[in-house]
Amino acid sequence: MRATSLGRAKRFAVYSGLVQMTTRRRFLVGAGISMTGAILALSRRAGAQSAAQRARAKTRLILLGTGGGPRPRKDVMSSAQVIVANGVPYVVDCANGVARQLVLAGIDLSTVRHVFITHHHSDHNADYGNLLLLSWASGLRTRVDTWGPPPLAKITRSFFDMSASDIEVRIEDEGRVPIVPLVHPHEITKDGVLMEDENVKVTAARVEHPLMPDAFAYRFDAADRSIVISGDTHRSENLVRLARGADVLVHEALWTPGIDRLVTFSPNASTLKKHIIDSHTPVEEVGQVAAAAGVKTLVLSHLVPADDDRLTDQTWIDLASTHFHGRIIVGKDLMEI
Ligand SMILES: [Zn+2]
Ligand SMILES: [Zn+2]
Repeated sequence: MRATSLGRAKRFAVYSGLVQMTTRRRFLVGAGISMTGAILALSRRAGAQSAAQRARAKTRLILLGTGGGPRPRKDVMSSAQVIVANGVPYVVDCANGVARQLVLAGIDLSTVRHVFITHHHSDHNADYGNLLLLSWASGLRTRVDTWGPPPLAKITRSFFDMSASDIEVRIEDEGRVPIVPLVHPHEITKDGVLMEDENVKVTAARVEHPLMPDAFAYRFDAADRSIVISGDTHRSENLVRLARGADVLVHEALWTPGIDRLVTFSPNASTLKKHIIDSHTPVEEVGQVAAAAGVKTLVLSHLVPADDDRLTDQTWIDLASTHFHGRIIVGKDLMEI
């Protein structure tokens, strides 16, 4: 979407080669980036340009949810993204609403074949089972492989046990194939290549997310680009190694002055604040990670806080660009990169 397509925006300002558009919802749009789904309805012209861009780019990255933490918010979903390589979706993380976001992004749920979970916090896995079940209810009839830390296999089994009455009725009434034999969970316990097919090679690397025994970042190497998803992590040298030379790094980001407001509900506010800082990466350090890895584009996502009215996109960019001088994008739900 180019600046010329933003005629309906009330106002816009150009900075750092990026365009900030202000409407009822605010989006940050960089060159070569387009919005998907409902956002395309902003203008027919924008939609036409996005389709052309998609036709040129074989491997697409769509941010489905860009907020950190499990609390449902009006405008920002929790963590999920999809990489579409040669038309095949590879879903990374399954926060609440992931199936709906995939539909809004124009992904046919019956084509879901590969699902990756970075770790088992509910802002990343709450709808893991629902994505499988609702994709099946939408016509999925083929094998699905899923990857994530233990106890992924138990989570998968337990979800199907919990959903047994719905599954049985749909098999009997709607003639659907049994779902349980379709789904193959793979538990990850160490770094390395997880899978490779005709579209992508996927590599996992352990990251540091204290109190969670296992958390992994994933790298997708496709023919035309490489994309790394950090998941949740404290500043991680293992992630720097995984992301070395990648085209795109999607990294979680924490704005530490915003934590106090987030923890006011807790009787253990000071402990919780320390845990949040120990488990995540302040946005200034995210820039250091991106610079150390030598990535071309840094996408800030899993934003904490995600809905603090004191924060602007420019704040995120200014803090990340202290150490990183490549392209920086502040992630928005349904943004395509
Ligand atoms: Zn998280
Ligand atoms: Zn987490």
